[in-house]
Amino acid sequence: MIYQRCIECGKTYEDDEIVYRCECNGLLEIVYDFDKIEVDKEKFKNRVFSVWRYFELLPIKNREKIISLKEGGTPLYRCRNLEEELGVKELYVKNEGANPTGSFKDRGMTVGVSKANELNIKVVGCASTGNTSASLAAYSARAKMKCLVLLPKGKVALGKLAQAMIYGAKVVEIDGNFDKALDMVNELAKEGLIYLLNSINPFRLEGQKTIGYEIADELNWEVPDRVIVPVGNAGNISAIWKGFKEFYELGFINELPKMTGIQAEGAKPIVEAFKKGKREIEPYENPETIATAIRIGKPVNAKKALNAIYESNGYAESVSDEEIIKAQKLLARKEGIFVEPASASSIAGLIKLLDEGVIDRSERIVCITTGHGLKDPDAAIRACEETIKVKSLDELKKLLSS
Ligand SMILES: *Cc1c(COP(=O)(O)O)cnc(C)c1O
Ligand SMILES: [Zn+2]
Repeated sequence: MIYQRCIECGKTYEDDEIVYRCECNGLLEIVYDFDKIEVDKEKFKNRVFSVWRYFELLPIKNREKIISLKEGGTPLYRCRNLEEELGVKELYVKNEGANPTGSFKDRGMTVGVSKANELNIKVVGCASTGNTSASLAAYSARAKMKCLVLLPKGKVALGKLAQAMIYGAKVVEIDGNFDKALDMVNELAKEGLIYLLNSINPFRLEGQKTIGYEIADELNWEVPDRVIVPVGNAGNISAIWKGFKEFYELGFINELPKMTGIQAEGAKPIVEAFKKGKREIEPYENPETIATAIRIGKPVNAKKALNAIYESNGYAESVSDEEIIKAQKLLARKEGIFVEPASASSIAGLIKLLDEGVIDRSERIVCITTGHGLKDPDAAIRACEETIKVKSLDELKKLLSS
């Protein structure tokens, strides 16, 4: 009833088979037989607002195998101050920083680690720019599994590193970037030494598709015109699109949003492919950006992401580090929402695409903010003016009256 299928050649694999790619090297996705699944949207409404509200549409058979920290159910904020500032009609921010370890990766990990638990896996691993490792370290701890995380040395934001360490993962740093770390853990996974929980793992993406479910659910089954997503390894935008498409197929919603992916200027292979109308990317050897969570040169899920963008009549654009920092401050100062730089790229992208006339001001827009601001305190402090120092109460009073 649930199986894995190659997006290239259509070959299928059973859901309990450990494969990360098809023998043709294509990416895999999870497919359900919706005719045999009994769900209706009213039933969902009566359950706790979280990833597991949608249990029947997730690839776990036995509820007892679920490893959860109560992920998902994140707030969708109407942003009236930003609407005014940017002159748009209806803008929401879906704040994934509100997840248990502070990023949307928790949605993927609750499903991925639960699947590993079903498969009786004892050792899990991932490569990470930071958030994947923080999340996997937490969920594997709760599941009593060993966890290996591979990080690019000196390139991981402090909050994320602290998380992976305190949750007790084996934290290994390599000389090299994320893409190299991913190649290395891929080898370990091929040899069966670890169960890989990067976003090549289609079970993880099943958890992340609930972002799409939740948006539809919260907006009373009226989907937004556009969803804007920061793109790194490109799993999330693909997953969110899958979520919307499934709700459409189930008849829960009547429309689909335009999926709009935002990358950083120094790491934008998907944007380049999109602008040339291609489905293949040319990798970046040395990706660079302040938004470390999307500092990825060779996105594994590029094919799925480009499919999502083309199929939904969406768009892809890049933003500079300067635009990212500006957007991060704007969101914090206008709406009280503090996100890490990668997350602010969705807001920066919105601003740029409004200027370019790609996005219409009358659209109903949801920006996904992917991770919490405290993940990268250094970046936030650098983005702001220095604190004010005073030596006396008098000085303080002068300051107040100036
Ligand atoms: C992982 C991550 C991304 C990128 O998501 P992909 O699925 O790799 O495209 C963006 N922002 C944050 C905060 C992340 O942790
Ligand atoms: Zn195939």
